Amino acid sequence: MYCRIDNKQLKFDPVNAESWMVYKPEKATCNGCKTEYQRWPSSDFAYMKRSNGYVCTLDGTEILEVDVTHMVHIFKGVGTGEVIHEKIPYCPFHEERPSDTGKPVKAYEGDPWEQEFKEIRRSLKEL
Ligand SMILES: [Zn+2]
Ligand SMILES: [Zn+2]
Repeated sequence: MYCRIDNKQLKFDPVNAESWMVYKPEKATCNGCKTEYQRWPSSDFAYMKRSNGYVCTLDGTEILEVDVTHMVHIFKGVGTGEVIHEKIPYCPFHEERPSDTGKPVKAYEGDPWEQEFKEIRRSLKEL
């Protein structure tokens, strides 16, 4: 039923994710059947795309999403009151439900966090 994700037929590549995102998936498309997959980086299982969502490649369970709320901060520890939402997938059968509390997100370019974020982006590209 599933394409084999444990061999080299599926090549997972990181996607361009914002540095504040908790879920920075890798994606792959099967050369044979064109089925699309995504997974947590280097995970040994994946979420397989179906017409109505994703299923787990380990157990076939329908994948659920958690709506994670990230606070927008001007500086470290100083919030603006705004929030950004991020959808994080998980398999309700064999994975723990991710926390719906996100990480602080910087509000502006050029703030004191900028260097830190640049470094995170650079390390992501080198994956
Ligand atoms: Zn396939
Ligand atoms: Zn599962």
